[in-house]
Amino acid sequence: MSESTPTLRAEIAGIPTYKPGKPASASEGPAAYKLSSNENPYPPLPGVLESTLAAAAQLNRYPDMACTTLTAELAERFGVPQEHVATGTGSVGVAQQLLQATSGPGDEVIYAWRSFEAYPIITQISGAKSVQVPLTSGEVHDLDAMAAAITDRTRLIFVCNPNNPTGTVVRRAELERFLDQVPGDVLVVLDEAYREFIRDAEVPDGIEIYRDRPNVAVLRTFSKAYGLAGLRVGFAVAHEPVAAALRKTAVPFGVSQLAQDAAVASLRAEDELLGRVGALVGERARVVSALQEQGWTVPETQANFVWLRLGERTVEFAQACERAGVVVRPFAGEGVRVTVGEPEANDLFLKVTEAFRKSG
Ligand code: PMP
Repeated sequence: MSESTPTLRAEIAGIPTYKPGKPASASEGPAAYKLSSNENPYPPLPGVLESTLAAAAQLNRYPDMACTTLTAELAERFGVPQEHVATGTGSVGVAQQLLQATSGPGDEVIYAWRSFEAYPIITQISGAKSVQVPLTSGEVHDLDAMAAAITDRTRLIFVCNPNNPTGTVVRRAELERFLDQVPGDVLVVLDEAYREFIRDAEVPDGIEIYRDRPNVAVLRTFSKAYGLAGLRVGFAVAHEPVAAALRKTAVPFGVSQLAQDAAVASLRAEDELLGRVGALVGERARVVSALQEQGWTVPETQANFVWLRLGERTVEFAQACERAGVVVRPFAGEGVRVTVGEPEANDLFLKVTEAFRKSG
């Protein structure tokens, strides 16, 4: 047998590892609640589960590769042409396709930092260079600095709205001003994974923004508000030729029939699902005001999570949460992102924050 190993692309060695939120079962304490992955705490609606199980009876068949029904219903729901909708294996899968379609070695990809931790990973896989623009001291996108970072090598810019992990938003006027400065040959990806949790009327709907801007693609997902994280289905809304490129770069049959049918059933049950989102938004307000009363500084969040900047005490705090029964998502040396969950989970979390503040 030869001693040599296959040659891998140089970029592969340096790819950071994606650290998923810890499951409750891996907790150091009696953890009952997982608040570490921005998931929806509610299980699928019975009707959604039924569609999924019905699809499971046909697992010997390949799924509909074009996601025909889902694409048609999304197009109708958002009032866009069907050709502008492209589905994929989670919105992170679609984001990766957007990079494959636009960016490679020698190119640059701009995004705020800290932001969604998949951006550096999928950018590096593409071979392009990440240009990370720090958030402002108020934990929001610094769009002026992002515009100033554009060079003739820039191919794609992510704007995560609301931003993961801070929950902060970019508002209409500043986004429009920014987009006016981006050259037409640079793709701007508005990542709206948490769109349905927004209640600030000044935050624009990306699908309205994209209509007049051929260089804007909007990313959405069924993982958060619609509660289908386990099925991996997301989509983009974009003009041709971007949407066409997404169809070309898709892994064949990447979205299972279970995922497609569950997504369609969820769209049809949208009122009920968005009612649950409303309850979570109510819990968010309760959690934020309780934290503020306890003396915490919490950036204004429009997502289903809150961000606590804890610096050197981050890991210690995350461990205290686990001992109390909640798993949160620490970013060592920076802060903790905590999903807004069911009321009992939030209560447990608030007990920890209270005790932690008192302990100095
Ligand atoms: N974008 C952002 C900002 C996210 O936080 C996430 C999930 N953590 C995703 C995209 C990806 O979600 P999914 O692949 O499940 O659609």
